[in-house]
Amino acid sequence: MLSQNTKNNKRKIIIAVISCTILIIIASILLMSYIRYNNRLELTQLGNMTTRQMMGYFLKTKDNKNIIIDGGTTGDSQNLIDYINQNGGEVDTWFITHPHEDHVGAIIEILNNTQIPIHNIYVTLNTPEWYEKFGDGRGNEAQELMQALEVDRVKEKVTEVELGQEIQVDNITFKILGVKNPEITENAMNNSSMVIKCMVNNKSIIFLGDTGQESGEKLLKNQREQLKADYVQVAHHGQAGAGEELYKTISPKVAMWPTPDWLWNNDSGQGEDSGTWKTKETRAWLENIGVKENIIEKDGNITIKIY
Ligand SMILES: [Zn+2]
Repeated sequence: MLSQNTKNNKRKIIIAVISCTILIIIASILLMSYIRYNNRLELTQLGNMTTRQMMGYFLKTKDNKNIIIDGGTTGDSQNLIDYINQNGGEVDTWFITHPHEDHVGAIIEILNNTQIPIHNIYVTLNTPEWYEKFGDGRGNEAQELMQALEVDRVKEKVTEVELGQEIQVDNITFKILGVKNPEITENAMNNSSMVIKCMVNNKSIIFLGDTGQESGEKLLKNQREQLKADYVQVAHHGQAGAGEELYKTISPKVAMWPTPDWLWNNDSGQGEDSGTWKTKETRAWLENIGVKENIIEKDGNITIKIY
């Protein structure tokens, strides 16, 4: 009888200990999720407001600091201005991957024709002569940006980034994995795109700008160990950009496409697949490496939370 009681007591103690342990584990998981969620990044991929391809990302830190990567064409500027105004009216940090108009038209418009405060601007720029020589007739787009960056309210806030530099904005860390490559004169402006790894908690995003085949190979050669990321911004709008091996090395779960509908569908105006763009090939590469989610510019402004 006594032995039966002892057995029952023992069983009760064991059940109590197991229950307590499970409760502690559940509470810890909930607490960790809460801490991670509070430490989140809110990222908006801006949709194209004209029919042209463009690239613009609007990021918000946990304490509502605004960060922009590129921003799109002049025709996309009102959408971006609306975003800035709806989120406190100023920009803490602006990264410019390269000075093609589909990336910098909007910031040029904002610098020249608004008073929106911008506290830091990070660029990687070659010389005006280099753009003139190797810019395939688009060197003037770089000149226009350089002129706009001279306006009084920002000219002291422009920094030329260095390879490997880390920039902390609130809870978000940015690491510069790629800068201008003046020695690459093929597809030169795109191959001089800034490449940025953005980290929050244990998640990471790689922004490739318009990285081409040649600068993609340089990244693989020099930065291979740092390329793995959960999210990737697909290079050069998904067409004729970096090669398959770069995406295999990044091995992302989510792809962010700065890609309008005609380019997504390779449609030159005569229906799907009537164009000669390489977007379908890039789509197949990413599908083959197991990307499950595509966030596409053609679908408008899309906001996701990363934590
Ligand atoms: Zn572009």
